[in-house]
Amino acid sequence: MIYNYAKNIEVIEETDVLVVGGGPAGIAAAVASSRVGVKVILAERFGAVGGNLTLGNVSPILGKVSEGTIYDEIVSLLSEKHKDEEKVETRNGKEIHIDAEEAKGILIKFLKDNNVSVMLQSALADVITENEEIKGVILTTHMGLKAVMAKRVVDATGDGIVAYLSGCEYEMGRDDGLTQPVTLEFTVGNVDESRAIMCFGGSDPVTLPDGRKYSDFCKECEAKGILPENVSIVRLHKTFYKGERNVNATQMNEINGLKYEDLYKAEVTLRNQIERVIDFLRKYIPGYENCMLKTSASTLGVRETRRIKGEYQVCDSDVENGNHYDDAIVHDAWFLIDIHNPKGGGQAEGRSKMAKPYDIRYGALLPVGIRNLILSGRCISGTHRAHASYRVMAICMATGEAAGIAAALSIKENVTLKELGAEKVREALTKKGVVL
Ligand SMILES: Cc1cc2nc3c(=O)[nH]c(=O)nc-3n(C[C@H](O)[C@H](O)[C@H](O)COP(=O)(O)OP(=O)(O)OC[C@H]3O[C@@H](n4cnc5c(N)ncnc54)[C@H](O)[C@@H]3O)c2cc1C
Repeated sequence: MIYNYAKNIEVIEETDVLVVGGGPAGIAAAVASSRVGVKVILAERFGAVGGNLTLGNVSPILGKVSEGTIYDEIVSLLSEKHKDEEKVETRNGKEIHIDAEEAKGILIKFLKDNNVSVMLQSALADVITENEEIKGVILTTHMGLKAVMAKRVVDATGDGIVAYLSGCEYEMGRDDGLTQPVTLEFTVGNVDESRAIMCFGGSDPVTLPDGRKYSDFCKECEAKGILPENVSIVRLHKTFYKGERNVNATQMNEINGLKYEDLYKAEVTLRNQIERVIDFLRKYIPGYENCMLKTSASTLGVRETRRIKGEYQVCDSDVENGNHYDDAIVHDAWFLIDIHNPKGGGQAEGRSKMAKPYDIRYGALLPVGIRNLILSGRCISGTHRAHASYRVMAICMATGEAAGIAAALSIKENVTLKELGAEKVREALTKKGVVL
């Protein structure tokens, strides 16, 4: 059944650049755009900014990019109170720990200090398009539906919602359509630091005091039903605070992160898994006997949904071979090809494969079909395997920064994003000290 609905909608704001989504990519985009000297509004559906970094309870920040990007600045802001913190170096690279609670305040201040107007609790509902251009968007606010008109729009929703509503094509998942599993991350406290292990992933060679490999023990517990189905590794990351671990373990497969009925199913299942994982830690892992739940993600952690079709697609070879390009707007991006198994536990390819520091080309941010929209973060154009690397937060911040600069510059130069070209964005990035 289709219900036809027509309504006059009040235009409450007009802006140069509108960034939709206030996660790592959106924050970077909004600040970078504003610094070019245009009017910027950031619309965020929740009541706090940070996306997965805050409300997803996701820590540490992983991945690397070349020096001088906004990632360096954000990490330094988030680490300011924890300068003496010893960095953990793993196969994942350097783990940058964050305090999600502290980050909510730091990031909103960062936006304010950089003259970004933030509309909180304002979710994108629709996009007004005309002749392959976005004229504005419709947001759901507490005063009903309102319109914001914009010259350029940055899609930083993670799910590529602006692009989707504008009619852009996209891909999702691997060849069989399955995506990486969803997870609710949580933090436990009351851990005995003198005895408790840490574990960053399934290939971490950490052992239990009796000499057993911890990852084998987790697999055994999953097979026996002590750990929930497909939870074959319980990752235990250090935080800033003694006696605390950030736990990345719960997992549900074959969930479509775009469907509300699947999100509900996953929320129910994973809240129950949190209890079971804590029981496992208390019963079997030394140092965790008295651990207790401190915080958990306020929203389901969705690793993979839409990858919008762009003028260029970051491909497997880019990431595997470390390809470099003259039109790179992110240089030396690096993270493992980290495919959490879409069908089963552990990694899809047995073990996450190494990537070589690679470039992200400007074309991967330009969606095919809409002239004044630019992509950032998790939803940029790439293959399933490439996405498994560039989806980490360091790289999302860097694509966000480039997208924000491009959006602002294209207004100043009165050209489309495509006409602007990579060179102008590269000039601006290089001028601020980014190594390209
Ligand atoms: C369980 C899990 C564990 C992970 N572990 C790590 C890790 O250890 N280290 C790491 O670096 N990365 C990790 N990642 C990946 C990383 O967190 C994400 O890929 C990254 O946060 C993506 O950044 P983003 O800004 O593109 O999207 P997000 O962080 O998802 O931010 C998107 C923002 O857009 C907002 N939004 C969405 N829809 C709308 C709408 N309709 N209207 C307005 N606003 C909207 C959201 O509320 C959110 O604030 C993990 C991801 C998951 C799910």
